[in-house]
Amino acid sequence: MSATILDGKSLALRLRGQYAVDAARLAAAGRRPGLAVVLVGENPASQVYVRNKVAACDAAGLLSENIVLPADTAQDALLARIDALNADPRIHGILVQLPLPPQLDEATVLARVAAAKDVDGFHTENVGALALGKPRFVPCTPKGVMALLADAGIEPRGREAVIVGRSNIVGKPMARLLLAADATVTVCHSRTRDLAFHARRAEILVAAIGRPKMISADMVRPGAVVIDVGINRQADGSLCGDVDFAGVREIAGWITPVPGGVGPMTIAMLLANTIEAARAS
Ligand code: NDP
Repeated sequence: MSATILDGKSLALRLRGQYAVDAARLAAAGRRPGLAVVLVGENPASQVYVRNKVAACDAAGLLSENIVLPADTAQDALLARIDALNADPRIHGILVQLPLPPQLDEATVLARVAAAKDVDGFHTENVGALALGKPRFVPCTPKGVMALLADAGIEPRGREAVIVGRSNIVGKPMARLLLAADATVTVCHSRTRDLAFHARRAEILVAAIGRPKMISADMVRPGAVVIDVGINRQADGSLCGDVDFAGVREIAGWITPVPGGVGPMTIAMLLANTIEAARAS
């Protein structure tokens, strides 16, 4: 039997409709939510992500400021730009698109964004708050995964959750959120000895690896919820996830497609975090 599709695209559209209402209410009260997106350089994938984020803001009636800086921007110049955004009362959220060119130190740049405007949830203060179980801004991708699970009525409590990937932007915050939701959490990574063994135990399996179709049907427990965070470009130009969708959908209970699963939810959660920041300002 084929798995039920977790349709992130349509849930994100629904949520964005609600956020447009929230943003209009805030605007009427003189606090139109504003997001600044800073892109340094011309990475084509980053350009697409930034375009989609700005378009989503515009469609929901948020103020968006798209700042594009040359690839050879010096660190001091970028930090000065962030300082100006931190002080700008029209801007409630600041997002610095990653990756940054090599002359820029990612940790220093992310730390410069005011924690109260860190709608990506990457600032140490927000990472710490999540780790302590008192989240403020939660990184958008794992937050989007939790929203997808909640919308489908999938309750993590007591379930075996296995996350493949331990990055700061997906794997680690995903583990913290599932733990906070009372799942029993295992985190796998490139040094995990027997990935298939762990993956097969999962009732909720999250793949955030960046390797096309790495999770095959024989690694999936029958009936499992399979969340595919990966976005990989194939030789023919099309996108695929970290999960072999065609094979895994025959064994899983639930599965997210790529595209149309987690990606649209990430953008929706960026709007949610920016609206939260405006409300708290
Ligand atoms: P990173 O490269 O930062 O992390 C990848 C993780 O996968 C690492 O922890 C790495 O382990 C682990 N890994 C790599 N190879 C293996 C392996 N053979 N077996 C087990 N684990 C392995 O990637 P991100 O977390 O930033 O992104 C992951 C994927 O998700 C990418 O495809 C990215 O494009 C996509 N993405 C999608 C988003 C969306 O909105 N849908 C948002 C963000 C990312 P180790 O730590 O040991 O190196």
